[in-house]
Amino acid sequence: MAVHYANTVTAAGMSKNLHVIASDEYEGRETGKKGQKMAAEYISARFKAAGIPPYKENTYYQEYPLNMVMPGPAEITIDSKKYTGNKDYYNFPGLSEQTIETKDILFLGYGIDQENYSDYKGADVKGKTVMILPGEPYSKDSISYASGKKTASLWSTYGRLKIETAREKGVGALLIVVDNIEKEMLNNKKRLEAPSLKLDLDKKEMPVIYISREMANEILKKKTIDKTKKKISKTGKSQQTVVKKDIVIAMRNTVQKIDAENVLGYIEGTDLKNELVVVTAHYDHLGKDGNIVFNGADDDGSGTVAVIEMAQAFAKAKREGHGPRRSMLFMTVSGEEKGLLGSSYYTEHPVYPLASTVCDLNIDMIGRVDEKHTGNPNYIYLIGSDKLSSELHAISEKSNKTYENLELDYTYNDEKDKNRFYYRSDHYNFAKNGIPVIFYFNGVHADYHKETDEVEKIDFNKMEKITRLVFFTAWEVANRTDRIVVDSNKK
Ligand SMILES: [Zn+2]
Repeated sequence: MAVHYANTVTAAGMSKNLHVIASDEYEGRETGKKGQKMAAEYISARFKAAGIPPYKENTYYQEYPLNMVMPGPAEITIDSKKYTGNKDYYNFPGLSEQTIETKDILFLGYGIDQENYSDYKGADVKGKTVMILPGEPYSKDSISYASGKKTASLWSTYGRLKIETAREKGVGALLIVVDNIEKEMLNNKKRLEAPSLKLDLDKKEMPVIYISREMANEILKKKTIDKTKKKISKTGKSQQTVVKKDIVIAMRNTVQKIDAENVLGYIEGTDLKNELVVVTAHYDHLGKDGNIVFNGADDDGSGTVAVIEMAQAFAKAKREGHGPRRSMLFMTVSGEEKGLLGSSYYTEHPVYPLASTVCDLNIDMIGRVDEKHTGNPNYIYLIGSDKLSSELHAISEKSNKTYENLELDYTYNDEKDKNRFYYRSDHYNFAKNGIPVIFYFNGVHADYHKETDEVEKIDFNKMEKITRLVFFTAWEVANRTDRIVVDSNKK
């Protein structure tokens, strides 16, 4: 039975839909903009044509409010000297509106925190202003104290790790020293000048400010940075400096209210209908820049049309008396490229209880081949499948062995992998709520987040095989008698 309906998932069907939503007319589907609304309408029309009724009166949309925060620097005063934004320092748009005032500044070396080396050791950082350096310390033999090897650790390669660590420690405000501020600002021009979309303005978050080496040297005593670096390099021990200075960081935002939509195709189950299996993909992308349209055919037009295709297959099964025992939600979300906003809103305002949500199968980029697999399109990276449920992992493996025989590549499932993909797409909002997930992903390629991510480059036959694998896994999870167990909590 499963095979019969899996065969209705076709390359041709996905190609037809992707040629529409990844066309220039859809203007790169940026969240809150015209192209995103057009895509939402198109997806709804496909659900309707498949005979799926709207999940609530007359609409497939879960609409959610967003705040568009305009770019602009914070105001920073230190001992009554006012510094100049976008010259002495910069910050990305979207800092929480607040004023942070502290009586001293803690210089905590590199801002690293791990067992054998911690810049935070013994420091009381709660609510404090903390200053840190980029990178990590090396011994005179060029061995990193953080990685224990000549190669850099995540502390250098994954920029957000230091920020996440400071946030977890309850730091009030984080100052990150940059060596060449003009160059950094130029590198980040687009992000610095674009408005930021936020779900919640009331949530106060730790501001992150990037400050010039000159500004850092003014705050600290002369040569403190160089001396600190040298001492750490020599001893392998962290160095902390406290400077008695009044610092005031004030943020005032200009905000515009907009709306965005998730599109929900709900298929009610039979005898186990109170449990829900979710399949997701994000349909938003980066929009356009002047005349250049970022069509996002792979990211994530590919996942979007895969979700449509599977919804059609399950709807057909139901029409013919073979509908799933558990209910199914085929959800394309927006706001992913702006920070997983649509899926975050959904998991905070779920339409069906999260406690009854069995799993989320998330598809984000399945139409291309990465460098590692050149000439071998029959692979897919799976991320997260074993992290919460060993049964989900086993079902996924068995579905593949029985039906598709793809090479399942678990490289990115490794917690130590520097790309941290597990945290970077919509499934994570489900996983952090204890819901088992699988993330299907073909890896990045030269056209990733470029205007050259075009539909002509998509391999639809590859997509068909992967989408069928997701279909078989979903079919088994939705139809088996026992709900899959949550039996582990790996990172
Ligand atoms: Zn994506």
